[in-house]
Amino acid sequence: MNKHTNERMNETKNTLNGEREPERYDLHMHSTSSDGMNTPTELARLAAERGLAGFALTDHDTAAGLGEAAREAERLGLAFLPGVEISTRAGGKDIHMLGYLFDPSDEKLSERLEGLRGVRDRRNDLILERLRELGVEITLEEVRDRGGRPLKPDESVGRPHMADVLVRKGYAVDLRDAFDKYLAEGAAAYVSPPRISPQDAADWIREAGGVPVLAHPGLYGDDDLVRAVLAEAKPAGIEVRHPDHGADDEARYRKLAEEYGLLTSAGSDYHGVRQGKVFHGELGGYTVGTAEVEALRRAASSADRGCWKAGG
Ligand SMILES: [Zn+2]
Ligand SMILES: [Zn+2]
Repeated sequence: MNKHTNERMNETKNTLNGEREPERYDLHMHSTSSDGMNTPTELARLAAERGLAGFALTDHDTAAGLGEAAREAERLGLAFLPGVEISTRAGGKDIHMLGYLFDPSDEKLSERLEGLRGVRDRRNDLILERLRELGVEITLEEVRDRGGRPLKPDESVGRPHMADVLVRKGYAVDLRDAFDKYLAEGAAAYVSPPRISPQDAADWIREAGGVPVLAHPGLYGDDDLVRAVLAEAKPAGIEVRHPDHGADDEARYRKLAEEYGLLTSAGSDYHGVRQGKVFHGELGGYTVGTAEVEALRRAASSADRGCWKAGG
């Protein structure tokens, strides 16, 4: 470890009352570029308000918000890590692969993500068709309009947007009800999407110079599957702290990280406030320190040189 890195790792900041506290980074959140409620600019401002040293934006299957987030972060003096959360499928479960510090202008990655959004659009059509068969009349236009905040072409639309329309039109009492009745896995209008594998997603991220990190392993409810994904996709890290992880999950995945030689990561998975409720966590509620961020940066720079070995 060089001197520069050492200094960075010991960085602290002064709080208003003069106490020094360690720097904190929230590495998982969503903007209006996917299914979040806040624009990338708003997220940067929230991160600053909550005293974070930096953050990563990790929208689903799109890098569309990264430029805006980076600009506002720079203006506010925050560190910014470009991120993405790629939807994959393995062992009959939706598995999410986070990617950090890739080149946001990488054309191959943009094309690949665009392909995924195409798949998402076809899936959305199928879900709306099933809903119509159930006597629920909502249209893609209503879903894309998002109550007067229409999507841009490179933003992705998904089930949370549909849930909003279902509630607005009185087909469900709240979002939970919309998912339980219609949209959740196994519910009446659920359509399982054709998906890439976690290994594909990890390769895409690595090929764009980034660092793949397995998202919220506790949500899959199957540690054998988690181990299989770690063995096959060889992400460089694992998300240990997440609002849907209990203390026991966190301890278990820290051990697993040690066993596989993985970086550890944390994030709030903040999606904003929908109808009075924060889904997943509050921005800044789940963070890593400077050491974890530096480890990610080292992994990314060795990936750039083409000598990075998966799994440590
Ligand atoms: Zn996720
Ligand atoms: Zn997420």
